[in-house]
Amino acid sequence: MLPHDACIAELISFIRTSPTAFHAAAASAALLAGQGFVRLDEQECWGRLPAGKYYVLRNESSLIGFTWQDTAAAFSIIGAHTDSPGLRLKPNALRREQGCLQLGVEIYGGALLRPWFDRELSLAGRVAWQDKDGGLRSALLDFQRPVGIMPSLAIHLNREANKQQEINGQTEMVPLVGLAGDTAIDFQQILRAQLCHQQPEATPVGIIDHELFFYDAAPPALAGLHQEFLVSARLDNLVSCFAATQALRTADSIDNCLIILNDHEEVGSVSAAGAKGPFLRDVLERLLPEAENRQAVLRKSFFISADNAHAVHPNYTAKHDPQHLPQLGRGPVIKFNANQRYATTAASGARFRQLCAQAKVPAQDFVSRSDLACGSTIGPLTAAGIGVDTVDIGIPSLAMHSIRETAACIDCWHLCRVLTRFFQHG
Ligand SMILES: [Zn+2]
Repeated sequence: MLPHDACIAELISFIRTSPTAFHAAAASAALLAGQGFVRLDEQECWGRLPAGKYYVLRNESSLIGFTWQDTAAAFSIIGAHTDSPGLRLKPNALRREQGCLQLGVEIYGGALLRPWFDRELSLAGRVAWQDKDGGLRSALLDFQRPVGIMPSLAIHLNREANKQQEINGQTEMVPLVGLAGDTAIDFQQILRAQLCHQQPEATPVGIIDHELFFYDAAPPALAGLHQEFLVSARLDNLVSCFAATQALRTADSIDNCLIILNDHEEVGSVSAAGAKGPFLRDVLERLLPEAENRQAVLRKSFFISADNAHAVHPNYTAKHDPQHLPQLGRGPVIKFNANQRYATTAASGARFRQLCAQAKVPAQDFVSRSDLACGSTIGPLTAAGIGVDTVDIGIPSLAMHSIRETAACIDCWHLCRVLTRFFQHG
């Protein structure tokens, strides 16, 4: 297990290389491949896999990685999600308005919109391109520099700006990306040039389609008098993706250890690669083809669903139940909900608490105020999908779904330690 400072440095590097779900899946895959994990292809038959370490990608945005022992061993499973709320380019995004070039976007997931204004934005995601033989290929792009900005309206033109105001996604969330000038601009050509810059060996005839997202061009930062805070975009849920990947890299359990990092959690998880889709079930059916054995194995298996929790905000303490006030720096949060928005049971909560004690990590509890709607995550979906005992947990954080979220470094380290312990023998 990495010491605290090295762990946070690697986490920051992981976040920087993961501006989108595609990049997060690729970053996790690269860490696993570097540790000797072998990539499996879903388009091929796997047969009876020999004991070993494997990973598989779906849609280039979801990943399952696992250590494989045998067909009778229980599975220790960690789940997280690769996607974060943001702004996704529309298919025909480029437009000219009052001398400016702009790119139209759709709002992806439940983004907190106000913090997106007046920040340098970069652009990343996936493009589908055609090679000179007519073949369709795919590549990940990342401009890695500020290319857009969404300026606020000056206070002089809107004296009500500091009172709560609705933001119109169609008319107000349209980043500026340049001066229009008088010559025609072909956005596909700009993407083609970026692809050639990133992959000099690629020979794209043209870019056919894209799934590109704006993201905060500012890198993650440590803040606080003693650098206690990690401040960054996408802490929800890249901290958990990183911790799960680190745990699997060093796994030495006699159980089968598996991580699943799903895309599309922020938009309801209904997709081929999302937690409500068949990805995990498909992989488990390949590994455990005999139905009764699979059910027996899954009933003795355990799933830790890791997704960030709401720490109590010192300026808004009334938003939490007074008996359940998870604080920054005091360890992972176990999430409870009577209506099964979280899958934690007495048994699964106790098991996670025991794991925390073994790892010498503190744990806290969260339940929503009874007069506030509760969020949800992949835990209940996976529990319902494959019938595995599940606990929902996550690091406490502030400003969830902002372009800039805040967590305590020590909690990120705590999470890495407890998840690593979960995949250790004995
Ligand atoms: Zn999340």
